[in-house]
Amino acid sequence: MVTILDRTNLVPAPADEKRVRHPEKAHKPDTEVLRKPEWIRVKAPASKGYHETRELVRSHKLVTVCEEAGCPNIGECWDKKHATFMIMGEICTRACAFCNVATGKPNALDLEEPQNVAKAVRQMGLAHVVITSVDRDDLADGGAEHFEKVIWAIRAASPNTTIEILTPDFLKKPGALERVVAAKPDVFNHNMETVPGNYLTVRPGARYFHSVRLLQRVKELDPTMFTKSGIMVGLGEERNEVLQLMDDLRTADVDFLTIGQYLQPTRKHHKVERFVTPEEFKSYEDIAYTKGFLMVSSSPLTRSSHHTGDDFARLKAAREKRLP
Ligand code: SF4
Repeated sequence: MVTILDRTNLVPAPADEKRVRHPEKAHKPDTEVLRKPEWIRVKAPASKGYHETRELVRSHKLVTVCEEAGCPNIGECWDKKHATFMIMGEICTRACAFCNVATGKPNALDLEEPQNVAKAVRQMGLAHVVITSVDRDDLADGGAEHFEKVIWAIRAASPNTTIEILTPDFLKKPGALERVVAAKPDVFNHNMETVPGNYLTVRPGARYFHSVRLLQRVKELDPTMFTKSGIMVGLGEERNEVLQLMDDLRTADVDFLTIGQYLQPTRKHHKVERFVTPEEFKSYEDIAYTKGFLMVSSSPLTRSSHHTGDDFARLKAAREKRLP
């Protein structure tokens, strides 16, 4: 059966009722919710594989961005045993207008987490894993050391697994980025999320050019590392702004660009200004390739951690093809 996941009317789980998930948004008026078009359709998460992945995540006390962000692809990904682990807790110190991850004061780091993540990766037999995190502005290094430990633990437990990290911006944390790059993940992803003109309303705690510079710095530190970034569209951006962002990312030598439709987690979040058509996504993809990206994924349900195993193989092949 095909259903549309609409989380805007979900009744909160009992645990969620006790704490306000997004205290900074609670006072905001409800936003208008646009009806989803027929091309935003996903399967309801119900398969055996989905339940097995869920059990594994629970038994290792892991947090996934798949659940925390309310990702529409969870049924498909978890059925294939593909989950994106979110480290350093489930509470974020930023308050982006688009994000469903809970905000507030985070708990202390779980020192057993690197081993638990590594065990789960080995048990799931993952060829490629994506590790992301909440923003930890409260930590002196923004969580760089913890990222490093998770990468090392996975390398030790599952040496053939390739590792992709999706990091925060480590804003004002000197040395943090250098430390994470030195741990040698295979792919370094940092999402721009939206065009610069939207930053104040969509991503107020971040700075556009800091994020561009971060991606550029990764390549300077290790020219062999694949770099990746993604944006959501449907947040009121103009087409020309998206094209300018592509140029900025190419200036930073970013290899892989992902573009997906923004979906509104609740009525307190930023509204969907419009649903971008599949034809427009295809057009963005074509233009991005002409601008020189090694790989582009642009479709309504593209998410930066969707199909990453297959994409990594294609990314390597695309680089090899370009080598003299
Ligand atoms: S696309 Fe990424 S976040 Fe969404 S379910 Fe798949 S792995 Fe999880």
